[in-house]
Amino acid sequence: MGFAVRAKGWLRPLARTGVLRAASMLRAPGAAILMYHSVMDNPDQHSAAFGGIIHSTRVFAGQMEVLARHYQPVALDDLVEILAGRKSLPRRAVLVTFDDGYADNCDIAAPVLNRTGIPAAFYVVVNSIASGRLPWPIRVRHAFLSTRVATWTDPAARRWPLATPKERLDAFAAACGHCGRLAGEAQEIAVVAIEQQLDSAPYAAEQRLMMSWEQLQTLRKQGHVVGSHTLSHPNVAQLAEGEAEQEFVDSKQKLEQQLSQPVWHFSYPNPVLDPHWTDETAALSQRVGYRTAVTSRRGLVRPKDNPLELSRILPSKQVDGLRWNLECAFAGYTRS
Ligand SMILES: [Zn+2]
Repeated sequence: MGFAVRAKGWLRPLARTGVLRAASMLRAPGAAILMYHSVMDNPDQHSAAFGGIIHSTRVFAGQMEVLARHYQPVALDDLVEILAGRKSLPRRAVLVTFDDGYADNCDIAAPVLNRTGIPAAFYVVVNSIASGRLPWPIRVRHAFLSTRVATWTDPAARRWPLATPKERLDAFAAACGHCGRLAGEAQEIAVVAIEQQLDSAPYAAEQRLMMSWEQLQTLRKQGHVVGSHTLSHPNVAQLAEGEAEQEFVDSKQKLEQQLSQPVWHFSYPNPVLDPHWTDETAALSQRVGYRTAVTSRRGLVRPKDNPLELSRILPSKQVDGLRWNLECAFAGYTRS
């Protein structure tokens, strides 16, 4: 551990000196799909409930400047052409994506993307756009972190103590294992039951934290891609096939109705459980009409990859850290 930290500190300047960049020239070409969620001026305001998914506006803007200056931002439609062999992959290609559909994506991130000329893809939880309710992992996380109740009893009758932060997070992880297997109404019933058991009020009920349909239309008019992140944010690999199909198909149709254009792109939710996609879900996604699907597996996309199971890179919360993420990935050092 000590060595790893020291080595990282020692290696970090190499990203700037270009040694890793030179190493990347020897590797097969790849594209880095970056996975963002939320961008806020003051991440501390919501970081407890949201977990580690918020970038500050300052860092995000700095990272987009880095992408525009030192890398080659590509659009998702270009990546489709590249994976089909109809276009060649530019060196140091990067693609910006957002999961879930938070209102800050349109209010804060999009103006930065538009200013820096970077096209992005926004994958939204369709039921959350329709209702304004946050995706269930945030609701459940908030319930476990804010409750004054001493214990939680899971559906298998196991009692979880909630005295320390670690105990609360352990219980939250167990609840995710339960809720992630559920979709639609059954999931909503389970989430409400947890909120009631923990005597938790809805998080930030007075604020609209999810995008509206109008905001999605604005993103589309600005030239960005809007894709599906399911209806209700389940782990589709853990659902019965009929339920999974409904999440793929109904989310696509609802988005198409609202946007008046085809929706071809999908992002797999990844709540705790492993795996979060399979060969079967990839085949299903293709059968119902998606052209690409991104996962939370770490790594670069290679030109021969299956477009329906694309790896992504988790961007650092530091501006320089993003360069480090990307130089390591392009040099072949990102774990998959
Ligand atoms: Zn998500």
